[in-house]
Amino acid sequence: MKRSSHVVLTSHSNQVYKDYPKINWGAKSAEERGPIIGSLTDTNMRNAIGTHSGSYTVYRALSIAAGDYSPEHKPDLENTEGTWNIKPQESWFDPEKIVSIDPWGVDVNLHFKKSLEAGMDIRPTIAITQAHLQIPEIYTAVEEGRIKPDGKIVTKAGDIKITKVAFEPVWYLPGIAKRLNLEEGELRKILFQETGGMFPELVTRPDLHVLLPPIGSVTAYIFGDPEKLSDPKTELSCRVHDECNGSDVFGSDICTCRPYLTYGIEHAAKTAQAGGVGLVVYYRKEGRALGEVTKFLVYNARKRQEGGDSAKNYFYRTECVAGVEDARFQELMPDPLHFLGVKKIHNLHSMSNMKYDSIVKSGIEVVNRISIPKELIPADAQVEIEAKKAAGYFTDGDVKDDGELQEVQGRKLEE
Ligand SMILES: [Zn+2]
Repeated sequence: MKRSSHVVLTSHSNQVYKDYPKINWGAKSAEERGPIIGSLTDTNMRNAIGTHSGSYTVYRALSIAAGDYSPEHKPDLENTEGTWNIKPQESWFDPEKIVSIDPWGVDVNLHFKKSLEAGMDIRPTIAITQAHLQIPEIYTAVEEGRIKPDGKIVTKAGDIKITKVAFEPVWYLPGIAKRLNLEEGELRKILFQETGGMFPELVTRPDLHVLLPPIGSVTAYIFGDPEKLSDPKTELSCRVHDECNGSDVFGSDICTCRPYLTYGIEHAAKTAQAGGVGLVVYYRKEGRALGEVTKFLVYNARKRQEGGDSAKNYFYRTECVAGVEDARFQELMPDPLHFLGVKKIHNLHSMSNMKYDSIVKSGIEVVNRISIPKELIPADAQVEIEAKKAAGYFTDGDVKDDGELQEVQGRKLEE
């Protein structure tokens, strides 16, 4: 069917979404739950607000606008099934356990075979594959004897074999509202208003409960046998990491993100080698979900303030520029853990109380909390780490008082 070129306002319900399949969030099987249809090749079948691919949906539109990409294209999903065939977990059947991703969005060609054969354009929102990680810090760990290649988890060359899972956001709005302690109507209104009116159906179509928001995705890296993730008796070392491109990829030394991440990877690999399982979940939430522009402005403001960049004023400068210390809502963060069936984390690599509280509140037991070892903190990142510890972030070390925090100074900007 050729899509019409005139603009159809989705707020007029007689124009679109006529015969769409119902979604029963938390139902016991894929067929009962019903597929999420956010594709645009048959608008009558759509049962979600927005469309697939998270933030890339806008690039897709641009590519179509440039004439490079056919809007009618339907993916050929043959041979795309995951390298690990995850079995449905108890948590998939609890409408409140998972609300920001779609557990049945994995291997849709298996779960929704009949519907796909009947012509529905169902797109996957989760994909599972394998990789070998080549990480300089891990090669050093091998050289220094902290990790021993076993040929199974860590190759002779020091590469780590993993399974990785990519998640696109799928928001079940009643569940999101409940998680944030809001009325669903209020949530929908604010989402509509504060995105400049991006999705009118948020306010005009209360019968549609699923939103595919144009935001960043999540990736889980699994070390060892993924089946063990759901066994609380198997030791699990886990790092939940929010994106910091400057440090994670480029090695910028103003924060502890990359060293904490690679330390988490090292521990995850070692736990897997010892018969346990490791997990690193990476959330695309740059700069405390405020973005890099805000982050860089804050760096400048911190370094130019009277008295220099001190741990004492660390959070204050972020709040001045951004209006809030931290725009992350960790309430949705545990969802990928529940998708994987995690019930108990033996070693949690995170000093954030927001993350810890959210994990525990969601029903996952945490045994040990692991802070970043002192020797891994870059000199310029002492400001961040001391400020966080003083603000109540988890540490098994000592916490500095106000006078001492003023003494913890970062590098000045170069003239
Ligand atoms: Zn960072």
